[in-house]
Amino acid sequence: MRQYGFGIDIGGTTVKMGLFKINGTLLEKWEVETRKEENGKSILADIACQIGNKIHEKGIHRNDIFGVGIGVPGPVSNDGIVLKCVNLGWGILNVEKTLSEMIDLPVKAGNDANVAALGEMWQGGAIGYKNVVMVTLGTGVGGGIIINGNIISGANGAGGEIGHIKVVKDEIEACGCGKTGCLEQYASATGIVRSSEKLLSKDNNPSILRNINGITAKDIFDAAKEGDMLANKLVEELGEKLGSALANISCVCDPEVFVLGGGVSKAGLILIDVIKKNYIEKAFHACEGTKFELAKLGNDAGIYGGLRLVLDV
Ligand SMILES: [Zn+2]
Repeated sequence: MRQYGFGIDIGGTTVKMGLFKINGTLLEKWEVETRKEENGKSILADIACQIGNKIHEKGIHRNDIFGVGIGVPGPVSNDGIVLKCVNLGWGILNVEKTLSEMIDLPVKAGNDANVAALGEMWQGGAIGYKNVVMVTLGTGVGGGIIINGNIISGANGAGGEIGHIKVVKDEIEACGCGKTGCLEQYASATGIVRSSEKLLSKDNNPSILRNINGITAKDIFDAAKEGDMLANKLVEELGEKLGSALANISCVCDPEVFVLGGGVSKAGLILIDVIKKNYIEKAFHACEGTKFELAKLGNDAGIYGGLRLVLDV
């Protein structure tokens, strides 16, 4: 009986791997270094080797394995082809076919943020929902859209790239994508810090933040919780941009729930409250009641989602 499966999450520094029962029970998880040298040509071979070793170590029969699902940090087409993955050095690469031939098991690949959203829907903060938009507020801003249980990856594998929705018209600094005014420039951990530096230089009011060297997004939320006026202004600006972007998203795909993940989401209720307030102000009336939840799986969302992805094959 095919009762086991692997969920894999390829990141820029580590590859996270999980051995699961197909009911979603995580049996074991581990990480290996992402070897990016020579355009990342060893990455899939390393994964194949890890899977082979684990099967051997556990004495699992190959016929008992459902398959391997994998999240990749770049656009992935519906048939598992990576079109370009700058982080890993990959050009066009058929991840499903290449890895499947190495390990002789079914492989399904998807964009990492989409796959994480699937993980949260299956075993995390969005259990019980089928229409989910996940927003990951980390070093960048990632997103995953699931409608009727299916990932919306689109024609170019770029569906759910919420971080690159335009929210400011007159920005002069460039986003990582090369364009300007993207949500990521304001709502990522680095974006929040950038906004704080700007505000502190033009606003002379006192603030706890002035005494901190190397301000982090967490410092800003902590100061806001203490009642610091400038920090609260920053949180309010963040809420406006995110709330308004999510209101626009709900006009397009009308999710039941927004799940907030990534390091910035550790701020918790203060973040949900300010986004929700701004969201309700901007949202189309039919969508005003959309739920907001915090992600629950943390860094494991990708491996859970990876497994869920392959179960549909
Ligand atoms: Zn951008």
